[in-house]
Amino acid sequence: MKVPFNVLRPQYLMFKEEYDRAALEALDSGWYVLGEKVSQFEKEFADYVGARHCVGLNSGLDALILAFRALEIGKGDEVIVPANTYIASVLGVTENGARPIFVEPDEFYNIDPARIEEVVTERTKAILPVHLYGQPARMEEIMAIAKKYNLFVVEDCAQAHGATINGKNIGTFGDINCFSFFPTKNLGAFGDAGAIVTDSEELAERVRLLRNYGSVKKYYHEIEGVNSRLDEFQAALLSVKLTHMAELEDDRRRVAEKYLEEITNPLLKLPKIKEGFKHVWHLFVVKCNRRDELQEFLSDNGIGTQIHYPVPPHLSGAYRRFGYKKGDFPITENYANTILSLPLYNGMTNEEADYVIQEINEFKGVSV
Ligand SMILES: *Cc1c(COP(=O)(O)O)cnc(C)c1O
Repeated sequence: MKVPFNVLRPQYLMFKEEYDRAALEALDSGWYVLGEKVSQFEKEFADYVGARHCVGLNSGLDALILAFRALEIGKGDEVIVPANTYIASVLGVTENGARPIFVEPDEFYNIDPARIEEVVTERTKAILPVHLYGQPARMEEIMAIAKKYNLFVVEDCAQAHGATINGKNIGTFGDINCFSFFPTKNLGAFGDAGAIVTDSEELAERVRLLRNYGSVKKYYHEIEGVNSRLDEFQAALLSVKLTHMAELEDDRRRVAEKYLEEITNPLLKLPKIKEGFKHVWHLFVVKCNRRDELQEFLSDNGIGTQIHYPVPPHLSGAYRRFGYKKGDFPITENYANTILSLPLYNGMTNEEADYVIQEINEFKGVSV
């Protein structure tokens, strides 16, 4: 049997007729960028998250870039970011000229609130928690620190649509919060797309200006903007998928729960879920000291896996100028060397999951 790490076609086929109808309708409408379908989706997504405003954008990275720009965070400012994250989170900060200050993760792979206060300085303007792999960061503790030092909070929700803490949605804690709808995300479009959500009318309006060349009305440019507009196709298709989010979330949870219950190999550490936190299983990440052997063993048996992420941002070539070296963030670096993401996607069958479980439980490791 072959089990890919991820495939997108099965979830398209789940609601194919609805997607096809929405796509043709968008094509037939004669209006393709920033129209009624975008406004409609923005309303629906704001409701889904429980935020007052949503502004549709071109990508998750644009959401992060424009969130910090709307807060006027830039040169000379510092933003506290998780060391264990996807580089896009950090690019949202550095693209504005601000300096990322990395903080080690907790046992849930998210930024460790206990280590945040020690890096706060006079230049600190914001904290950027990332809800990595689909589990919320510890927002209550993070918001208390932000309040104490008067810092903005920008949540990176790209991997956690629908995740909650004691019933409260992620994306409703911070000042301005960012989502990606890249096709592989839990709410994925059929191309690039993203959005910010916020309760602030003023911040929403600023991002609305920024995304469309800073124009208040056509050809009147009040501020220096960019082009990060959402198109009608993606909005229409996202509206369809949004109506099925509960079902899609349960479908991922079915696979994750099988893994949690049936993987018994003592060489692997399974993900832990914090009490009261709803994990939405963007990724199922295990930890194994013989990770590379495990990955090769699974690959030899037809099972695809990935590493999220093999090189932490502080050691990536992109940030060589900051001068970090190996050993600066040992917990993060240990994770990068030992974590592995197992196959998990909408439409994955129980037989496929059974096969992954069976092979993992047979893994013994070849070396001593
Ligand atoms: C995917 C992702 C992003 C960026 O989203 P794009 O739509 O790909 O630009 C940002 N942060 C995290 C944590 C992500 O997983």
